[in-house]
Amino acid sequence: PQRRTVDMEGLVRETLEMLQTDPLSRGVALETDLAPVSASVDPDQIRQVLINLVRNAFEAAEGGKVRVSLGGEGGTAHLRVWDSAGAIPESHLGRIFEPFFTTRSGGTGLGLATAYSIVRAHEGRLQVTSSPEAGTEFMVELPLSAEEV
Ligand code: ADP
Ligand code: MG
Repeated sequence: PQRRTVDMEGLVRETLEMLQTDPLSRGVALETDLAPVSASVDPDQIRQVLINLVRNAFEAAEGGKVRVSLGGEGGTAHLRVWDSAGAIPESHLGRIFEPFFTTRSGGTGLGLATAYSIVRAHEGRLQVTSSPEAGTEFMVELPLSAEEV
């Protein structure tokens, strides 16, 4: 990746503004909670990660809520994409990051696989938690820029 110090708050804000024109966002309540965080990343690649996660959340939420939050602590930037839809079945959880795994008609199954490899190439982590009570949350961890560590 072509890494440099990137204003993550600005990147997230601009990307979400762009995604408001996505038909999938129709009827979804989008909430944000963004802290001023800079990370050492390739901005084009991290924008792609965010787009893939948020579009999945819009599709899952179907008129519910999606929340995007950004924070930084312990040398790590945390980017979370949460949706209010029900849980991902246990039997799918281990497979959703596999290329071509999809449960959506017309899905490619490439969104999460791509996001996962981008995050790994940044020495970051991409994790998911999902339950019927709490909804589904994808969390991206990325190294903060050197100035902030
Ligand atoms: P696609 O969106 O083309 O199906 P992805 O790689 O983006 O491919 O996602 C793979 C699968 O993971 C989806 O088909 C769906 O089953 C599951 N998934 C991804 N994001 C969510 C989410 N926010 N809520 C529920 N299931 C999800
Ligand atoms: Mg997808």
